[in-house]
Amino acid sequence: MKSSDIRTVTNLADAMAQDEDLSGERNEELEDCVHRMITLLGEDPTREGLARTPLRVAKAMQTLTSGYSMSIDQIVNNAIFTEKYDEIVSIKNIHFFSLCEHHMLPFFGIANIGYIPDGKVIGLSKIPRVVDMFAKRLQVQERLTSEIAYCLNDILQPRGVAVVMEAYHLCMMMRGVEKQDCLTVTSCMLGDFRSSVQTRNEFLHLCGGHSLKS
Ligand SMILES: [Zn+2]
Repeated sequence: MKSSDIRTVTNLADAMAQDEDLSGERNEELEDCVHRMITLLGEDPTREGLARTPLRVAKAMQTLTSGYSMSIDQIVNNAIFTEKYDEIVSIKNIHFFSLCEHHMLPFFGIANIGYIPDGKVIGLSKIPRVVDMFAKRLQVQERLTSEIAYCLNDILQPRGVAVVMEAYHLCMMMRGVEKQDCLTVTSCMLGDFRSSVQTRNEFLHLCGGHSLKS
């Protein structure tokens, strides 16, 4: 892995450790499931290091799947503005973390997003939050990519939307094929980005250099 990848893994560790605030509402049923899983894995859930693990894991899982309780209206919060700009708006290098729905293991990487306004623009900080809303769920990368694209398409009705995502999947790296260098790339092109090769290439050129492999 390159240093940028190691940084991404460090971010992942941070994201997963973020949750050390164990206050707030508890989901005891979920904690019981984790307790049971630890036992079934042959460990002793009462030993010191594991005693609070069910609580921590339950909290972490709730955070990592918090996208289910977010709504697009809350996120956008009226931050859509009338604007004449009709060139590509691109937001690059949006780091995201998600959980694969087949193994519930993390996949993580970057999203590059572009759209061509048709009279409406969105507050730029909202776009990473839209990514988060869909990433913090049980996902497959293909659906995550198209959900983000169609969501932006719905709320902005732009001339086009482009989403390209690159990710490392821990379920491929740690188990199964155990391929550490395997980067999965998905894209969803709508409107002008789909119909015009030139527009699509302009976007891909704008994203140049913003890749986990570069
Ligand atoms: Zn998987």
